[in-house]
Amino acid sequence: MDDKLKQDEQREALKKQQKKSKLEQQAALGVQGGLELKKDEKAKFLGQFKERVLKALTFAKVEKKGIYPEVAEAIEDKRADKLIIDRRVDKQAAKEYINLSREADLSFKRVQSPDFVGDIGLVVASNQAVKVDNILLNSSKQDEAILPESLLAAKGKKICADCYNKLKDIAPDKVSDYKKISIIDKLLGVECAAEINQEVKD
Ligand SMILES: [Zn+2]
Repeated sequence: MDDKLKQDEQREALKKQQKKSKLEQQAALGVQGGLELKKDEKAKFLGQFKERVLKALTFAKVEKKGIYPEVAEAIEDKRADKLIIDRRVDKQAAKEYINLSREADLSFKRVQSPDFVGDIGLVVASNQAVKVDNILLNSSKQDEAILPESLLAAKGKKICADCYNKLKDIAPDKVSDYKKISIIDKLLGVECAAEINQEVKD
Protein backbone atom coordinates (compact mmCIF):
# COMPACT_ATOMS: atom_id res chain seq x y z
CA MET A 1 0.00 0.00 0.00
CA ASP A 2 1.50 3.36 -0.90
CA ASP A 3 1.50 6.29 1.47
CA LYS A 4 -1.08 8.27 -0.43
CA LEU A 5 -3.61 5.50 -0.20
CA LYS A 6 -2.84 5.00 3.47
CA GLN A 7 -3.46 8.68 4.17
CA ASP A 8 -6.76 8.59 2.33
CA GLU A 9 -7.86 5.62 4.35
CA GLN A 10 -6.92 7.27 7.60
CA ARG A 11 -8.73 10.43 6.61
CA GLU A 12 -11.82 8.43 5.77
CA ALA A 13 -11.73 6.59 9.08
CA LEU A 14 -11.36 9.87 10.94
CA LYS A 15 -14.35 11.35 9.13
CA LYS A 16 -16.46 8.34 10.01
CA GLN A 17 -15.43 8.65 13.62
CA GLN A 18 -16.37 12.32 13.73
CA LYS A 19 -19.72 11.62 12.12
CA LYS A 20 -20.44 8.90 14.62
CA SER A 21 -19.59 10.99 17.64
CA LYS A 22 -21.74 13.80 16.30
CA LEU A 23 -24.69 11.40 16.13
CA GLU A 24 -23.94 10.21 19.63
CA GLN A 25 -23.86 13.79 20.85
CA GLN A 26 -27.19 14.52 19.25
CA ALA A 27 -28.72 11.41 20.76
CA ALA A 28 -27.40 12.38 24.16
CA LEU A 29 -28.85 15.86 23.75
CA GLY A 30 -32.19 14.32 22.83
CA VAL A 31 -32.21 12.24 25.99
CA GLN A 32 -31.16 15.26 27.99
CA GLY A 33 -34.01 17.28 26.44
CA GLY A 34 -36.48 14.54 27.34
CA LEU A 35 -35.25 14.48 30.92
CA GLU A 36 -35.53 18.25 31.17
CA LEU A 37 -39.11 18.06 29.93
CA LYS A 38 -39.96 15.38 32.52
CA LYS A 39 -38.39 17.54 35.19
CA ASP A 40 -40.58 20.48 34.14
CA GLU A 41 -43.66 18.26 34.25
CA LYS A 42 -42.81 17.01 37.70
CA ALA A 43 -42.26 20.55 38.91
CA LYS A 44 -45.70 21.47 37.65
CA PHE A 45 -47.57 18.46 39.03
CA LEU A 46 -46.26 18.35 42.61
CA GLY A 47 -43.44 15.95 41.77
CA GLN A 48 -45.52 13.58 39.64
CA PHE A 49 -44.99 12.62 36.01
CA LYS A 50 -47.73 14.16 33.90
CA GLU A 51 -48.50 10.80 32.30
CA ARG A 52 -49.42 9.42 35.73
CA VAL A 53 -51.77 12.24 36.67
CA LEU A 54 -55.52 11.54 36.59
CA LYS A 55 -56.69 14.95 37.75
CA ALA A 56 -55.15 18.15 39.02
CA LEU A 57 -56.68 21.20 40.69
CA THR A 58 -55.33 24.71 41.13
CA PHE A 59 -54.93 26.20 44.61
CA ALA A 60 -57.99 28.39 44.10
CA LYS A 61 -60.13 25.43 43.09
CA VAL A 62 -59.04 23.21 45.98
CA GLU A 63 -59.92 25.91 48.45
CA LYS A 64 -63.43 26.35 47.07
CA LYS A 65 -66.21 25.04 49.27
CA GLY A 66 -67.50 21.65 48.15
CA ILE A 67 -66.02 18.96 45.95
CA TYR A 68 -65.50 18.85 42.23
CA PRO A 69 -67.25 15.68 41.02
CA GLU A 70 -64.50 15.14 38.45
CA VAL A 71 -61.91 15.01 41.21
CA ALA A 72 -64.09 12.68 43.29
CA GLU A 73 -64.35 10.41 40.26
CA ALA A 74 -60.58 10.46 39.79
CA ILE A 75 -60.09 9.55 43.47
CA GLU A 76 -62.50 6.63 43.05
CA ASP A 77 -60.88 5.58 39.77
CA LYS A 78 -59.32 2.10 40.09
CA ARG A 79 -56.06 3.39 38.60
CA ALA A 80 -55.65 6.05 41.29
CA ASP A 81 -52.97 5.33 43.91
CA LYS A 82 -52.32 8.61 45.64
CA LEU A 83 -53.57 12.03 46.52
CA ILE A 84 -50.92 14.72 46.74
CA ILE A 85 -51.58 18.16 48.10
CA ASP A 86 -49.21 21.10 48.30
CA ARG A 87 -48.41 22.07 51.89
CA ARG A 88 -49.45 25.63 51.17
CA VAL A 89 -53.05 24.54 50.61
CA ASP A 90 -55.21 25.15 53.67
CA LYS A 91 -55.67 21.69 55.18
CA GLN A 92 -59.21 22.46 56.31
CA ALA A 93 -60.18 23.40 52.77
CA ALA A 94 -58.76 20.16 51.39
CA LYS A 95 -60.36 18.01 54.11
CA GLU A 96 -63.17 16.69 51.96
CA TYR A 97 -60.74 15.46 49.31
CA ILE A 98 -58.54 13.91 51.98
CA ASN A 99 -61.53 12.10 53.51
CA LEU A 100 -62.58 10.78 50.11
CA SER A 101 -59.08 9.52 49.37
CA ARG A 102 -59.02 7.68 52.71
CA GLU A 103 -62.31 5.98 51.89
CA ALA A 104 -60.85 4.97 48.52
CA ASP A 105 -57.65 3.64 50.16
CA LEU A 106 -55.37 6.06 48.41
CA SER A 107 -52.12 7.09 50.00
CA PHE A 108 -52.08 10.73 50.97
CA LYS A 109 -49.12 13.04 51.04
CA ARG A 110 -48.54 16.73 51.54
CA VAL A 111 -45.53 18.03 49.67
CA GLN A 112 -43.49 21.17 49.29
CA SER A 113 -40.54 22.06 47.13
CA PRO A 114 -38.86 25.24 45.95
CA ASP A 115 -38.74 23.57 42.51
CA PHE A 116 -42.51 23.53 42.10
CA VAL A 117 -43.87 25.91 39.49
CA GLY A 118 -47.38 26.93 38.49
CA ASP A 119 -50.56 26.97 40.52
CA ILE A 120 -51.42 23.28 40.93
CA GLY A 121 -52.29 22.53 44.53
CA LEU A 122 -53.79 19.04 44.30
CA VAL A 123 -52.96 16.00 42.19
CA VAL A 124 -54.64 12.60 41.96
CA ALA A 125 -52.06 10.23 40.50
CA SER A 126 -51.42 6.62 39.61
CA ASN A 127 -48.19 4.67 40.12
CA GLN A 128 -48.24 3.91 36.40
CA ALA A 129 -48.74 5.85 33.20
CA VAL A 130 -52.43 6.52 32.59
CA LYS A 131 -52.12 9.18 29.90
CA VAL A 132 -55.27 11.10 30.71
CA ASP A 133 -55.90 13.93 28.24
CA ASN A 134 -57.97 16.30 30.35
CA ILE A 135 -55.99 16.53 33.56
CA LEU A 136 -57.29 19.98 34.36
CA LEU A 137 -61.00 20.67 34.65
CA ASN A 138 -62.83 21.92 31.64
CA SER A 139 -62.83 25.70 32.21
CA SER A 140 -66.51 26.20 31.44
CA LYS A 141 -67.41 23.49 33.93
CA GLN A 142 -65.09 24.64 36.69
CA ASP A 143 -67.41 27.05 38.38
CA GLU A 144 -70.74 25.35 38.02
CA ALA A 145 -70.01 21.69 38.64
CA ILE A 146 -68.98 21.95 42.25
CA LEU A 147 -71.16 19.83 44.55
CA PRO A 148 -71.70 20.21 48.27
CA GLU A 149 -70.31 17.25 50.18
CA SER A 150 -73.75 16.20 51.45
CA LEU A 151 -75.03 15.88 47.90
CA LEU A 152 -71.97 14.01 46.77
CA ALA A 153 -72.41 11.57 49.65
CA ALA A 154 -76.03 10.98 48.57
CA LYS A 155 -75.02 9.69 45.16
CA GLY A 156 -77.32 6.85 44.06
CA LYS A 157 -79.82 7.69 46.81
CA LYS A 158 -83.16 9.45 46.95
CA ILE A 159 -83.24 13.18 47.37
CA CYS A 160 -86.07 15.67 47.79
CA ALA A 161 -87.43 17.80 44.96
CA ASP A 162 -85.66 20.89 46.30
CA CYS A 163 -82.27 19.22 46.30
CA TYR A 164 -83.00 17.59 42.96
CA ASN A 165 -83.77 20.94 41.35
CA LYS A 166 -80.71 22.54 42.87
CA LEU A 167 -78.57 19.69 41.60
CA LYS A 168 -80.09 20.23 38.16
CA ASP A 169 -79.00 23.86 38.33
CA ILE A 170 -75.42 23.31 39.45
CA ALA A 171 -74.58 20.01 37.71
CA PRO A 172 -77.22 18.91 35.20
CA ASP A 173 -75.07 16.03 33.98
CA LYS A 174 -75.08 14.50 37.48
CA VAL A 175 -78.86 14.31 37.86
CA SER A 176 -78.97 10.75 36.53
CA ASP A 177 -76.88 9.65 39.56
CA TYR A 178 -79.79 10.45 41.90
CA LYS A 179 -83.44 9.56 42.37
CA LYS A 180 -86.14 12.04 43.23
CA ILE A 181 -88.33 11.24 46.24
CA SER A 182 -91.84 10.47 44.98
CA ILE A 183 -95.12 11.32 46.71
CA ILE A 184 -95.44 7.68 47.79
CA ASP A 185 -91.87 7.75 49.18
CA LYS A 186 -92.86 10.81 51.17
CA LEU A 187 -95.93 9.04 52.55
CA LEU A 188 -93.68 6.15 53.52
CA GLY A 189 -91.44 8.54 55.39
CA VAL A 190 -88.43 8.43 53.05
CA GLU A 191 -86.16 11.33 53.86
CA CYS A 192 -83.86 13.30 51.61
CA ALA A 193 -80.36 11.81 51.64
CA ALA A 194 -78.81 15.20 51.03
CA GLU A 195 -80.06 18.15 52.95
CA ILE A 196 -78.24 20.78 50.99
CA ASN A 197 -80.83 23.52 51.24
CA GLN A 198 -78.84 25.48 53.78
CA GLU A 199 -75.56 25.13 51.93
CA VAL A 200 -76.84 26.12 48.52
CA LYS A 201 -78.98 29.08 49.53
CA ASP A 202 -76.18 31.63 49.42
ZN1 LIG B 1 -83.23 17.56 50.08
